[in-house]
Amino acid sequence: MPVFSQISLRWAQAASENVNSPGPSNMDINLNLQGKPMTHLRSAKLLRPLTRAHLLLAALLLSACTSTPLPPWSRPSAVSPAAPRTPVITALPPVVTAPAAVTAPPPTTRPASPLPYSAAVAARYPEPSLVYATPGLQPGRTQFTTQAEIQTWLREQASAASGTPGVMANVVPAGRSQRGVTLEALVLTRAAGTDPLSLQANGRPTVMLVGQQHGDEPAGSEAMLVIARELAQGLLQPLLERINVVIVPRANPDGAAAGTRVTAGGLDMNRDHLLLNTPEAQALAAVARDYRPTVVVDAHEYTVTGRFVEKFAAIQKFDALFQYATTPNLPEFLTKAAEEWYRRPLLSALKAQGLGSEWYYTTSSDLQDKKISMGGTLADTGRNVDGLKNAVSLLIETRGVGIGRLHIQRRVHTHVTAIMSVLGSTAQRSSELHELRPYLDKEVSSLACKSDAVVEAVPTTTQHELVMLDPSSGADKVVMVDWDSALVLRPVKTRVRPCGYWLSASATTAVERLRLQGIQVLKVTASGSVLGDSYREISRTAGERMDVRGSISDADRIVVVQTGLARSLLDVSRGSYYVPLNQPLGNLAIAALEPDTQSSYFANRLLPDLQGIVRVMAPPSLKLEELP
Ligand SMILES: [Zn+2]
Repeated sequence: MPVFSQISLRWAQAASENVNSPGPSNMDINLNLQGKPMTHLRSAKLLRPLTRAHLLLAALLLSACTSTPLPPWSRPSAVSPAAPRTPVITALPPVVTAPAAVTAPPPTTRPASPLPYSAAVAARYPEPSLVYATPGLQPGRTQFTTQAEIQTWLREQASAASGTPGVMANVVPAGRSQRGVTLEALVLTRAAGTDPLSLQANGRPTVMLVGQQHGDEPAGSEAMLVIARELAQGLLQPLLERINVVIVPRANPDGAAAGTRVTAGGLDMNRDHLLLNTPEAQALAAVARDYRPTVVVDAHEYTVTGRFVEKFAAIQKFDALFQYATTPNLPEFLTKAAEEWYRRPLLSALKAQGLGSEWYYTTSSDLQDKKISMGGTLADTGRNVDGLKNAVSLLIETRGVGIGRLHIQRRVHTHVTAIMSVLGSTAQRSSELHELRPYLDKEVSSLACKSDAVVEAVPTTTQHELVMLDPSSGADKVVMVDWDSALVLRPVKTRVRPCGYWLSASATTAVERLRLQGIQVLKVTASGSVLGDSYREISRTAGERMDVRGSISDADRIVVVQTGLARSLLDVSRGSYYVPLNQPLGNLAIAALEPDTQSSYFANRLLPDLQGIVRVMAPPSLKLEELP
């Protein structure tokens, strides 16, 4: 049972000063984090005769949410040999069926392609006792669920869910991939409709699930089909009493079809969530802008062998790697909520299933560099950008890259377990989350014109005992590594936080991208002046965007500038733009607009020149209007 602490959210007096609709000041919102029973799970729906699969799923879910430890879910006494193998409905293949045998066959009997490592290593990963049966997981399949099958599946779930009184479900278009494939989201809710306004109005937090941004990481996508079905017509449907869910099971269909990490144009879309150069990242941004999720899950898989074997002569061990947003300027309580409300229950849920976990980590492609790094601190990944949108942002990775279909049931089971934990935590804390989000929005808004903003921060290097596996014996192998921790950031560039940014009339591309993020941009309707800091260019070179894995792409050259600031009264013309920072996404605007970072709009040529951006240092008295 996770031990929760008591968080007290104090509305600082300052938090209500600079916002349009100030909340109560000096008010304590006591968030009772003691584990409450999920009473809604005891609905009549669950009191009908349970199949074995139901029992297992219920144990899975409840073990993550109640204060009473449940017996091990797979112990024989919990299983009735006579339990009917009845699917939830008969028109579709059952997602979860009882296995043919409780004990998984030894790995050597599998007819699959040669193992990527020894049988002793493979034996560390027995099959789960549940068998998941999405289209791509059917026996004999060599191909994961196709895009057409996903489209059919989502529609079937929407149709089935709509049969329950009060439940609304719909498949909504989210955009198009570079090869013209329609990206779709399944929206499940008990709101009056599946449109964004209905979901925002219904008082329940919205969870957004994103799968397969990297095309060669299929387990998250398959797991989301399972989750979609269980929400639509299965055991998870009662959760819709407390939460809304938006599922984008496959964010990169072109990469999935080609079996590649990147999108069709060769870009890694998970480094594109601030810039939004790819239509795939644009699609996810539009969904997030419209549905304003309180929680976002980004499902991936990580490299098990490859460069880790070459560097450490070891196989990577953990079923799941996990990390929340770790980038500068995140509100403290967002990180606390991610840690205490989500990570701790999630680790317990995984452990209860016999699944091992660690913080997310990776290593560069340079074989001489044996440093291990947690997920990065830059505002470019979905994980960090969603955090800067004040959402609890959770990265979940299973051990899957480079091992084909090996252990696929276990990988899907790991994602299903983790996502169910996240959904359960959100349902359990729905009322607290409902209060947390406006608090965070006001807190960020209130910082405009005062306080400092961290422009750039780096992780801190520590030592860490990382458990890997001996490639021959499969035994645990403890490796002491240099570990770049993203949990403690060291600021390397800090500036006074402006009231907002003025942008020249030619900054149309930047304005379009900011607005796609949901950032408010205003138009200057009459010439005027502002007190502002201009950027003076000290040096300029060409560079590359780098992440902790190494260079992203040679083609991705950026402008690296060093700047100084010069304050003056500046004339601004009609038709130019103003981006106020007293808005909920102020921190995201800072990440985009401070020019001298590798993720910035200037460095990546979305802003044409340094003269076209000014840090506005006093509340401007300009005539401004909303853009249409
Ligand atoms: Zn990935």
